[in-house]
Amino acid sequence: MRDESARLVPNTLGVRCVAEQLRVARSEEDLAEQLTDADRRGLPVTLVGDGSNFVLRPRLPGLALLLRLRGMTFERLGRRTWRVTASAGETWHDLVRTTLGRGIPGLENLALIPGTVGAAPVQNIGAYGRELGEVLETVTVFDRRRGAFRTLAAKECGLRYRASRFRGLGSAGVSPAFSCTGDGERFAIVRVALLLGDAPLRCDYPDVRRELGRMGVAPAATDATRVAEAVVRVRRRKLPDPGRIGNVGSFFKNPLVTRKQLDDIRARLDVDAYPAPDAPGRCKISAARLIDDAGWKGVRRGAMQVWPRQPLVLVNRGGATGNDALALAAAIQSDVRSKYGVALELEPTVAGV
Ligand code: NAP
Repeated sequence: MRDESARLVPNTLGVRCVAEQLRVARSEEDLAEQLTDADRRGLPVTLVGDGSNFVLRPRLPGLALLLRLRGMTFERLGRRTWRVTASAGETWHDLVRTTLGRGIPGLENLALIPGTVGAAPVQNIGAYGRELGEVLETVTVFDRRRGAFRTLAAKECGLRYRASRFRGLGSAGVSPAFSCTGDGERFAIVRVALLLGDAPLRCDYPDVRRELGRMGVAPAATDATRVAEAVVRVRRRKLPDPGRIGNVGSFFKNPLVTRKQLDDIRARLDVDAYPAPDAPGRCKISAARLIDDAGWKGVRRGAMQVWPRQPLVLVNRGGATGNDALALAAAIQSDVRSKYGVALELEPTVAGV
């Protein structure tokens, strides 16, 4: 009881969660040693970056291992191409800023995504038409089964829409660690390598296009830095700053629906549909549109609230627990299912008891 405050698991939702044990890993060797030791003792391990994609219940059995591995390297491969490596504990947005500051384009659409570099491949982060998988070269992991480091090529990572082999196939992400099943538990990501520089700019998403227009940037003058600035402005306007209001970004994934489901939804609601390359026969629609139309924008349940400017985000107004957040999410899921026949999946990982 006495040292509970030293075992609080950091998380941007701002809920209280006490781990049975909590330690910090500051280097790849340190991480390997601590994981090997925990595995030898049969202790479950939860790897934690900055806790920005976790919904934590009040107690976390086993060891919470905070990844604080730091470092970035930049290698010029050609006139317009670079290999950039970054350690798992680096903040993702710092990597975006640093590459752009060195004149290396490629990550501009992924500006201001919360979380660490190590968490990025787990859900194959993406935004405004650019996905990590398009620039990922390799992921270096500590393989707990073999007790050794391994470097996996991007094509070995099973990257899909906001998913990868590191996350597993679980539908609701109900698991300890970064990830759900088998491989998620097996691999601890320590470093990623990206190939950046030669992809064309992508600014066709309505929010980005409009923002560039507001900034007065002519199409011919658009460059990676301006696209990043537009993305940052849109995100700052729509999303609550987790440093001030507890949240985990999007609480739900955008659903992939069948043609029949889309027709049924369109009988009630005018909704845009986009192709879903990973899921033949399905298309992608906006979860926010369904939640908004179902009347949840701004709704408050106890200390939790649906963010009024982006109903995909649930915020902690102060004093909520992980269970409060999950109860609000379950009420939204059940309502959206009964109104539109769509099962919304949780995006964050749920951990603890
Ligand atoms: P949004 O821009 O309102 O878009 C809503 C939905 O429409 C998304 O499914 C988006 O696909 C799709 N869409 C919009 N314009 C499109 C186009 N030109 N081509 C293809 N699909 C299009 O979404 P939002 O909720 O405000 O989020 C903004 C961006 O951040 C989105 O790209 C979203 O995926 C991304 N995001 C990523 C994460 C993550 O990596 N975990 C978390 C939250 C939000 P896409 O989802 O494929 O973009």
